[in-house]
Amino acid sequence: MISEQMLEAQAREAIAEDIAVEAGILKRCPWREIAYQDDWDMGRLYRIAGRRFKQEDIPRPFYSQKDLNDALKSVVDDAPLDCPRCEKLRNED
Ligand SMILES: [Zn+2]
Repeated sequence: MISEQMLEAQAREAIAEDIAVEAGILKRCPWREIAYQDDWDMGRLYRIAGRRFKQEDIPRPFYSQKDLNDALKSVVDDAPLDCPRCEKLRNED
C-alpha cells in the first residue's frame, strides 16, 4: 500500500527535480524518465529556488527555504552523471 507520506515524498522529489531542470542544473533525457547532472552551480540553483519560494511560486509540500534546498541537494546528488542512452548517441555523432 502506498502511504500518504510516500506520495508526499514523491511529489517533493518531482517538484525539486523540475526546479533543478528549469535552473539548468539537471537535464532531462528526451527519451527516458530520468534527469541527469548537467551543471554543478548549486549556488545558482539555491538562488533561483529561493526567489521562487519567496514569490510563493513553489507548490506547497515545502515548509521552508532550507527544506526546499535540502530536497534540491538530494535530487541533484542522486541524479546520474549522464544518461547512458544520450551519451551513446553523442558518441555516434
Ligand atoms: Zn538520455
